[in-house]
Order: sequence, then C-alpha cells, then structure tokens
Amino acid sequence: MHSQAMFFKARAGEKAADRALQDKLGKAKSRFVAARAGAVADYAGDFEALREAGREIRDRALANLDVWLETFEERACARGARVMYARDGAEISRLVVDIARRHGVTKVAKSKSMLSEEAGLNAALTAAGIEPVETDLGEYILQIDGNEAPSHIIAPAFHKSKEEVAALFSRVHGKPLKDDISAMTLEARAVLREHFLSAGMGMTGGNFLIAETGSVALVTNEGNGRMVTTLPKVHVVVTGIEKVIPTLEDFATLMRLLPRSATGQSISNYVSVLTGVKDAAELDGPEHLYFILVDNGRVSLVGSEFEAMLRCIRCGACMNHCPVYQTVGGHAYGWVYPGPMGSVLTPLYTGIAQALDLPHASTLCNQCGVVCPVKIPLPELLRGLREKQVDLKLRPWRERLGLRAWGWLAQRPTLYGWAVRLGVRYLNWLADGSDRIRVPGPAPGWTLGRDLPAPQGRTFRELYAARNKREAKS
Ligand code: SF4
Repeated sequence: MHSQAMFFKARAGEKAADRALQDKLGKAKSRFVAARAGAVADYAGDFEALREAGREIRDRALANLDVWLETFEERACARGARVMYARDGAEISRLVVDIARRHGVTKVAKSKSMLSEEAGLNAALTAAGIEPVETDLGEYILQIDGNEAPSHIIAPAFHKSKEEVAALFSRVHGKPLKDDISAMTLEARAVLREHFLSAGMGMTGGNFLIAETGSVALVTNEGNGRMVTTLPKVHVVVTGIEKVIPTLEDFATLMRLLPRSATGQSISNYVSVLTGVKDAAELDGPEHLYFILVDNGRVSLVGSEFEAMLRCIRCGACMNHCPVYQTVGGHAYGWVYPGPMGSVLTPLYTGIAQALDLPHASTLCNQCGVVCPVKIPLPELLRGLREKQVDLKLRPWRERLGLRAWGWLAQRPTLYGWAVRLGVRYLNWLADGSDRIRVPGPAPGWTLGRDLPAPQGRTFRELYAARNKREAKS
C-alpha cells in the first residue's frame, strides 16, 4: 500500500494554487520568522555558541542512549512511575488502551503529542470505546472539524483562518458566531474544562525526558498540559526514546533554544518538570504515571549516517523558514511531520520507498540548517536520502542515466567545458531572445511550474579564465 507521503507532488500542486491557503501561510510566515529573528537578536549571550551547546547535549545523549534510558527508567520507577517500551504505532495503541481499561477509563484528555499522531491513537481509542479529547486549542479545532491532520508541529491549525474557526465553533458548540479570538478561546475553554474534570486519564507527549531525575518536561503556551497532568488520576506520557537528555542543567540550556527558535519567546508560558506520582503531602497530581517510550524507526537511526536527525527538539523553525513549506503548507507532506524535518523523518520512519518525493521537496537553500537550534545538517541529510534512492534504483531510469552521464562528464574537465558551452548555446536558442526558457519535448511541465532563466553573460569557466589572465598580467 502506498503511503500518503508518496503523493507529495500531486498535493503540492493543489496547495500552491490555493489562494486562501497562500494568504494564511504568508501571514504566519512573517510572524514566526520575524519573532525568531527578534528573539535571537535580543539574546544577551552568543546565540551561535548556544546552538553549539544544544548540538553537543543532544549528541552526548544519543551517543549513550541506552545508558541514559536505563538511568531514566530507574529514577522514574523509584518515584512510582512505570516505564514501558513500544516498537511501533500498533504497540503504542495497544498499551494505551490496556492502561485505560485497567483503570476503568472511558475518557482521555490529551495534550499535544506527535507520537499519538504517528500511532493514529485517537482512532484506536475510539475503536476501543474510549473517548479521546484533544485539549490543545489547535488540536481541539482539528478534532471537532472531523479529525483533520495537523499542518504544523507547533501550530497544528495553522492553515485555518479566524473566520473558519468561528464558523466551526458556532456549528459544533451551538453558540452565536463570534469574531473575536479571545471570545472564541474562552468558549473553547469552557467546553474543555468539563472534559478536564471528567476525564479518567490524561495523556501527554514529552519535550524532554530528564535522566538524572526521571522527569518529563513539558513546554506549552496553553494551560491544558498542566490540567491533563494534575486532574486525572492516571497520566500516560507517550514519547520517543530519543527525547532523553542527561541532566536538568542540559534542560536549562535547551530551554534557552527551544522557545526562541519555535515562537520567538524567551520562555514559553508553561514549563513543567513532572516527577513521579502524587505523594501523600501533595494535593494535585496523578496516582498512576506511565511512560511509553517509543522506537517506531528511531533505533535504526542510532549510529547511522542519519543519526543527527534524532537531535531534533521539534521547534518547527526549519519549516517556518522553508520556501517550499511556505508555499505548500503542511498537509502536502502527507504524514505527521512536515517541512524539512519531515522530508527527512518520514522516509526514515515509514520507509524510503514510501516517500520518494519528500527528499526532493527542498531547494537545498540551507535556511533550515542555519536556523536549526541543534545544528542538524538538514540539506546534507536530504542529499543523503536522494543518494540512497538512486543506489536502491528507486528513481526513474532516465534520471539515473542522466546523473551517471553527468558524473562521467564532470570527471573530464575539457569535455565538460565543451558540453557546457554547447548547452549554453542550446538554452539561448530555446530562450529565443527572452529571459525565460520553456523546455520543449518530453519535459515541458518542468518549466510550467517554475522559472528557468536564460543563461546570462559568460560561464563560470570563462569568468575564471579571464580572472586568471588578469592576475597573471598584474
Ligand atoms: S530539525 Fe531543527 S529546526 Fe527543524 S524542528 Fe527539528 S530542531 Fe527544529
């Protein structure tokens, strides 16, 4: 069966032609990009040094992932938690449903969790007769609008306008239409409050797992995370195994990077470090705490050429700055993770043959690499995936033949020079005096969707030769 991620090209064309989506993407783009730039400029220290420290922390954790996971498990269990491991989405669903049944839970209040999306957990809970309620405002909007998929990892309903949300709330809540965002938020708050109070189980993801204390750290801008982790008697954390970091000190460093890179805030509204179950002296907190630590493709990346991708702290900066994401939005990517990080993660987690278009959904401009707070070399990883596709013969034979011919030519400089000169003449002939080329023959579609400028001036080789000549004279 083909995954949705196979069909990026077809969806990208539709999304790029969607005027309303373009308007929403444009507004959000300027907001996120400007906010991050402001936060970086206002940072009192050296932000590049901070990025390097972030990279070092994540690499240190990944280098001994098994040791930190064991330490985490031991410390978390010492505080009354239970730690379980899940190989894939089906196992996550099975474990969560089992826990819910064991505690007689019929409603689960959920805070945002990308792993839950990876597992399709809401469908599994519903099938088991357990009601899942999304309590992150963006996720809630998507859930009541027919379980639509998120289009951004930190702003899931990014693709919806205020007017669309107002109409949805009025229809689902049976209230008069509102045009004020604060009023709509208060309306959702009143509905969600009922769910917080009646849910038997709270479920969250985890931004970080802190090994030395056995804690989970949650970073949010809404109070829902605190509600789902303090009111229900059972709290289940579902998160990837790669989220573990060694110490609280490391957490403090990463917290200087995460909100600045994500939303341009120096600190998020709610930063919670949760350790163990409620003890006798505490008024709030869960009586039962479970951690489900998930592989779902992560283990295969440890020690591989793609290990750097596991450093990701899910800030969303790469997609906010990506010209491809800014044009097509998140749904075009077809799976849980959009943008450059998704173009790397989706083929690695779902199988390289399941997402052939995604490593090509990039201009390789390296904006993503420049803004990534933990210095993931995203363009390099995308190039690595493209190479793998060619090695595995997953690209069309014409493309592979073309690349091989180009490789052969590139190793013969004189011949290459002649070929470039001929190529330039041919392209100028095609341009026929205009500054834009339309490719004839079997590939006209290639230039219908993008500009191919006619060659301007002299080739690089001619300029280089002229410079050498000038320098030799002087
Ligand atoms: S790849 Fe880097 S920039 Fe993108 S979400 Fe992950 S940490 Fe953020």
